[in-house]
Amino acid sequence: METDTIAAISTPVGEGGIAVIRVSGPESISLVDRIFKGKHPLVEAATHTVHYGHIVHPVSDGDPIDEVLVTVMKKPRTFTREDVVEISCHGGMISVQSVLEVLLEVGIRLAEPGEFTKRAFLNGRIDLSQAEAVIDLIRSKTDRAAQLAMRQAEGRLSRLVQRLRRDILETLAHLAVNVDYPEYDAEELTAKRLRERCDEVEREVNSLLATARQGRIYREGIATVIVGRPNVGKSSLLNALAHENKAIVTDIPGTTRDVIEEYVNVRGIPLRLVDTAGIRETEDVVEKIGVERSHQALEEADLVLLLLNYAESLSDDDRRLLREVAPHTAIIVVNKTDLPPRLDLEEVRSLVRETPMVTTSIKEETGLDQLEQAIADLFLEGRTQSQDLTYVSNTRHIQLLKETLRHIQEAKAGLDAGVPLDMVEIDMKNAWQSLGEIIGDAVAEDLIDQIFSQFCLGK
Ligand code: GDP
Ligand code: ZN
Repeated sequence: METDTIAAISTPVGEGGIAVIRVSGPESISLVDRIFKGKHPLVEAATHTVHYGHIVHPVSDGDPIDEVLVTVMKKPRTFTREDVVEISCHGGMISVQSVLEVLLEVGIRLAEPGEFTKRAFLNGRIDLSQAEAVIDLIRSKTDRAAQLAMRQAEGRLSRLVQRLRRDILETLAHLAVNVDYPEYDAEELTAKRLRERCDEVEREVNSLLATARQGRIYREGIATVIVGRPNVGKSSLLNALAHENKAIVTDIPGTTRDVIEEYVNVRGIPLRLVDTAGIRETEDVVEKIGVERSHQALEEADLVLLLLNYAESLSDDDRRLLREVAPHTAIIVVNKTDLPPRLDLEEVRSLVRETPMVTTSIKEETGLDQLEQAIADLFLEGRTQSQDLTYVSNTRHIQLLKETLRHIQEAKAGLDAGVPLDMVEIDMKNAWQSLGEIIGDAVAEDLIDQIFSQFCLGK
């Protein structure tokens, strides 16, 4: 059990105006009170009230460090379900740091990343999928991703999973009566009805899993690789996409510092342009990547944009790339259509029969709309986004849903083979447990730590 009192700056670093320090734990009110000078002591304050005053040094009793508004919130109606004090400072980052320092001097501990949310989870305020949604929210790359994360935070997935679990549990209860108390005159649960229940659960889990691909796309972006021989216009395409869609350059936590990935938002779909440093820095990406390496880059990509030059006939390099790209999700971009045609489009077609093809002149800014539409067609399957779809986007959730599916399918196979019902019962229980892990029932302690360590400080 964690029962000490923790603090962290909970507003984004570097934002001007007011900064908020959040303090949570059993001694949060009394400890903050030791460095607070206001009209009344905080320990006498009613819950959910705001108090004007100054933060002063606990021993030297010198000049006030900052003028503050302090909000006192007593448990359980708080984010962490512990006593919470929020200190709004207005002296900018330096004074916030000073206030934080005196908080640490009176015995408050600096919170670990995600520790507030972790406490909220451990105290039953939110369930695990909601907590993970907070992580996703912090990391969201586009507005739509933020929306999805938010919706999950609101508990949509939790509610669905809980309903499924109730259904299974109810079935299990019926089963138990039939198996354990045959003398009990209960409604008989036939194998046929049990199978119907399993079918229902299977259908729902499957439809959740079907949203997983889209969810992952919104959360992580579509890993996109631009290939083509030198001078076809790869850098130009990258710049055009980035220019039209406002590229966000980020270094991704967990990868090495010098790996730079670029995000461009194409009709709400985040493209994560991989290896763009290579495209930007060298003119000869095909040579740089080489045959073996281009294979690997393609394997890891969700989308390959293969550029061809409309003004030149197909080269052996082009043919090799076309064959390489054929089995992948790709779009052939025939560029430089402003120049006289030399390319044999029939031959291109014969090498990649299924792959969508668009023609562009990046120079004259034509065809980019069609390219964006082709991307949207591939990844949204032409559907407009339904507002009430629940997306599953978290890898752990996807694993657990797959596990649930396996158990349900085992149960069905057992029923078909006519095994005793108490064998089927075990499979159903396993399915129930896998679902439970999504919302944090029966999760191992280390897994919880692992999940919460991904949070930003102060959340
Ligand atoms: P990369 O080597 O594949 O990255 O190709 P670049 O983007 O560096 O482009 C090579 C040259 O082709 C540059 O001079 C571009 O301005 C030019 N270029 C790019 N797209 C077009 C186009 O659509 N039409 C014409 N005429 N030139 C283009
Ligand atoms: Zn270039």
